[in-house]
Amino acid sequence: MTTTVSGTTQTIQTRLQPAESVQQLLETASLYLHIPFCHTRCHYCDFNTYAGILPLREPYVRALLSEIKLAGQMAQQADGTPRRSRTIFFGGGTPSLLTVPQVTRLLQACFSSFAIDQDAEITLEANPGTLSQEQLVGLRAAGINRLSMGAQSFDAELLKALGRIHTPEEITQAVQYARAAGFTSINLDFMFGLPDQTMQHWRETLDRALDLHPDHLSLYSLIIEEGTPFYTWADEGRITPGDEDLCADMYEYADEVLQKAGYSNYEISNWALPGQHSRHNLTYWLNLPYIGMGAGAYSSFGGRRFSNEREPLEYIKLLRTGRLPEVESEVIEHAQAMSETAFLALRTATGLHLPTFEQRFAEPFTHFVGDRLRIVEEAGLLEYEDDWLRLSKRGRLLGNEVFLRLLPD
Ligand code: SF4
Repeated sequence: MTTTVSGTTQTIQTRLQPAESVQQLLETASLYLHIPFCHTRCHYCDFNTYAGILPLREPYVRALLSEIKLAGQMAQQADGTPRRSRTIFFGGGTPSLLTVPQVTRLLQACFSSFAIDQDAEITLEANPGTLSQEQLVGLRAAGINRLSMGAQSFDAELLKALGRIHTPEEITQAVQYARAAGFTSINLDFMFGLPDQTMQHWRETLDRALDLHPDHLSLYSLIIEEGTPFYTWADEGRITPGDEDLCADMYEYADEVLQKAGYSNYEISNWALPGQHSRHNLTYWLNLPYIGMGAGAYSSFGGRRFSNEREPLEYIKLLRTGRLPEVESEVIEHAQAMSETAFLALRTATGLHLPTFEQRFAEPFTHFVGDRLRIVEEAGLLEYEDDWLRLSKRGRLLGNEVFLRLLPD
């Protein structure tokens, strides 16, 4: 097991490599439920989500209930028993726009069609502008045990510029409501590198975030995606996102203050208090199976990667015909699975656990990458610690460049 600079990191790293064998984990499937509704579209967002279709919520929930049942049958074990699942994640979109009874029905369907662990992590993403105390009490009672809120900034002007519907005060209030409702696992998302965002804004946002003692923080630098208002405005010169140097300084500053406050940076964009890393996201980083349900959701299961119809009305229509709404599918070749597993693990602070890789693919990582490993090692881009291989500080700065040099085509 990894020896690290602090006891805190040791705890998290121990947990990042789950206690179960990789073979056992490969027999499970994490569940993702996509809820594609938002009050309005934020100016930077390119997710598969829609404003102005709230009346579709109930028909959509009914379609999702059908899909959960069909997916449960599709994913059954060879002996007809339900597939085991360790996590459920309601993502979006804005899942907090569903009513408590709708969330309850969806959870019940998951429990009927899959073998959900008793201590499963069940997360719901929420917009702080949509939450009431009563709703949070209801969600907690329904079985949601982790809340992930898109806070983005504590600066009122920046929130407006992003097109967010909530105020800084509503973030604080939502966290207080959630704690009062019994949530002991709360994540807050924030963004940096925003147009007109200064280092001072960022410091204040992080200070106010830490005052709320969230259990987990996700910090993302703004990426201007094609097709969003921000893309057009940047193209017209009306907005200028933070430059690379400022973003790097903001990232480093955040890492410093969060580490001081007891959070560990266990993946590039994620920090957690001991034992509070996201088990669901770990499914993706460990390249374990997951089944995505809902409009446009992706799955990686049974040696295939597949995705659903994106448009909610079309998705509902397909489910009415009684079949799974899958529209695209590809087989994951053995070598591709090996490359992806290594690539994803090297994004995490702990890196790739070499014995687990060998156990999973019946081939040591060193054989798989061959001579390339020596070249990348000699360039000082990788480092070993016990059984783990991870990017060095220099390797982290080069990011994708390392993967391109390391992994077979
Ligand atoms: S609330 Fe989230 S999902 Fe909805 S538009 Fe804004 S960023 Fe996108």
